[in-house]
Amino acid sequence: MNIKDNLEKIKRELPANVKLVAVSKTKPAEMILEAYDAGHRVFGENKAQELSQKHEVLPKDIEWHFIGHLQTNKVKYIAPFVSLIHSVDSIKLMKEINKHAVKNNRIIDCLLQFHIAEESTKFGLNLEEAEHLISALKDYPNIRFTGVMGMATNTDDKTQVRREFRQLHYYFKYLKEKYFKDSGYFKEISMGMSGDYKIAVEEGSTMVRLGTAVFGARNYQNKQ
Ligand SMILES: *Cc1c(COP(=O)(O)O)cnc(C)c1O
Repeated sequence: MNIKDNLEKIKRELPANVKLVAVSKTKPAEMILEAYDAGHRVFGENKAQELSQKHEVLPKDIEWHFIGHLQTNKVKYIAPFVSLIHSVDSIKLMKEINKHAVKNNRIIDCLLQFHIAEESTKFGLNLEEAEHLISALKDYPNIRFTGVMGMATNTDDKTQVRREFRQLHYYFKYLKEKYFKDSGYFKEISMGMSGDYKIAVEEGSTMVRLGTAVFGARNYQNKQ
């Protein structure tokens, strides 16, 4: 498994407007450096402390994305440097992100994470809840919503996966039209993982989050 070859192959296939977030969770810094040396700069992690440790030892021009469920007591580890938090799904979390954004004197870009999968274990909002979060934004001026994120059901049923991505695209368009019409920054649809990103791209993804396709399979005991 050659990381550089994987990256080149994936980038050749992706439309120019789709950003590749290389999901490096559980992978050592050396592997991230290998991708870095191949020219890649955007990485995603789903554990705040792991992310913070990697940020410390790796080059400072890396753009770090947080992609997993974020516990409020962990926001402090990533607030000083994180480029995008993909997983905002509660007012409680918004409040905490805003607090640490203020402390660090920055605006933190975030995505509204929707629940589009059938599995009940996945986190995320429905449309009504997302609108509630948007209406609370005025109290949290150091948060900027730049779009939406979602994970499709882990299934071989491609029709279902496509339907779920299409649903997320619809939520994006609805919110864009209603709340962010004149906000050029509200433009991201983060959808697509190694097993389903081609469908996601066909359904309008602007950001794919690929771990296995870039770095190879994760160890079972570390699998997230
Ligand atoms: C792990 C993870 C990914 C990447 O998964 P792969 O199937 O390895 O590409 C993408 N998004 C989230 C939220 C993840 O936790």
